[in-house]
Amino acid sequence: MNTIQAIRGMNDVLPGDVSAWQHVERHARTLLGTYGYEEIRPPMVERTELFRRSIGEVTDIVEKEMYTFDDRNGESLTLRPECTASVVRAAIEHGLLRTPGRRVWTMGPMFRYERPQKGRYRQFHQIDVELLGVAEPSAEAELILMTRRLWKALGVSGLALELNSLGSRDIQARYRTRLAEYFSAHAPALDEDSLRRLETNPLRILDSKNPSMQTLIEEAPRIVDEHDGDARAHFDRLLATLDEAGVEYRVNPRIVRGLDYYTGTVFEWTTGELGAQGAVCGGGRYDNLVAEIGGPASPAIGFAIGLERLVALLKAQSVELPAARPHAYLAAAGARASILAHAVAERLRDAVPELCLVVDAGHGSFKAKLRRADRSGARIALVLGEEEAGSGRIAVKDLRARGPQSVVSIDELADHVTRNVFAG
Ligand code: AMP
Repeated sequence: MNTIQAIRGMNDVLPGDVSAWQHVERHARTLLGTYGYEEIRPPMVERTELFRRSIGEVTDIVEKEMYTFDDRNGESLTLRPECTASVVRAAIEHGLLRTPGRRVWTMGPMFRYERPQKGRYRQFHQIDVELLGVAEPSAEAELILMTRRLWKALGVSGLALELNSLGSRDIQARYRTRLAEYFSAHAPALDEDSLRRLETNPLRILDSKNPSMQTLIEEAPRIVDEHDGDARAHFDRLLATLDEAGVEYRVNPRIVRGLDYYTGTVFEWTTGELGAQGAVCGGGRYDNLVAEIGGPASPAIGFAIGLERLVALLKAQSVELPAARPHAYLAAAGARASILAHAVAERLRDAVPELCLVVDAGHGSFKAKLRRADRSGARIALVLGEEEAGSGRIAVKDLRARGPQSVVSIDELADHVTRNVFAG
């Protein structure tokens, strides 16, 4: 029979890799808590309309990448391709915006039908952070400083911060006109997608990944040249705050992000160590989105970290991770000993709740069981043979010191294990 395999671009995270994921998740959860962010868990499926309206009709995500289907009632639903829209929808629906400066985060899988390659998947995971209701550049600064602290806590280095400002909707409208003029003048050099976008949303021509378009894009007008006094003053205040806090950054006028909802500051943390997919974190301000999806006018800003890429960076930099090894491995041999094994293990778990104990579950010879104990990485093996079982005792073998084993009474096992495992 054919074997059934995972869907292309959707990966299993295997036990050997999970410790790196947990390392990131644990540090992120703790750090976000210390900055006053609360967890929120929106569903993974939303009405398609939510993403069309927020991300924008003429974007790669909405045009080409969404997993959209009709449910049994004929309603069009979509697996979330990102979750800012979901968080904002939930915040509006549950009145979270009544408190200005609402800080929320969420974590989980996102779905985009992209061409899978290293660092680009169809199911990928993000930590998504949103600060709702703050218009001042202090919001941007907080998010950027928090991410900088996260990299440090995780032990990753070399991530570079790039910033740009996309300005208000008015500025973007002026910029769109300028871009349309520029790209129209170069119409013969445009690919099919870009020709279409020239009519619908010229800004999104800048997202093109087509290599033959890159020089044209590079030489296109820049949005900073359209900025008015307010946009410039906001961005300057942010840069001054970052300078004061000792953050290194580069202003990159080419960062436009691929989603329509951004206004004002946008930023990305990138690395050169992951090949073509070097953006580990991206975000920005979206002051119009709350109103655009039906909420009260409210400024907001957020970012998302790509977990696959961050975990890959941890690996590339050989960041040391806590090993997931059991403290003890209990192996029983013989009919009576096997029946007794779980009772002994449960008594031990009652007495030492923090003990990580694996009970051998396999068949095979005693030698095979001890080999499994060794391979588990456990510090000690608890060996229950027929003879020990009959006399209420158990052998304790130090798997690292390789010295002689000691035989202790089952009544004293908890004390003995605690001394051996937790005393250095
Ligand atoms: P975006 O939601 O497009 O702003 O992306 C934010 C972050 O999510 C990026 O910087 C990446 O780290 C990550 N990301 C986005 N798309 C993918 C993908 N297809 N596969 C893996 N990671 C992704």
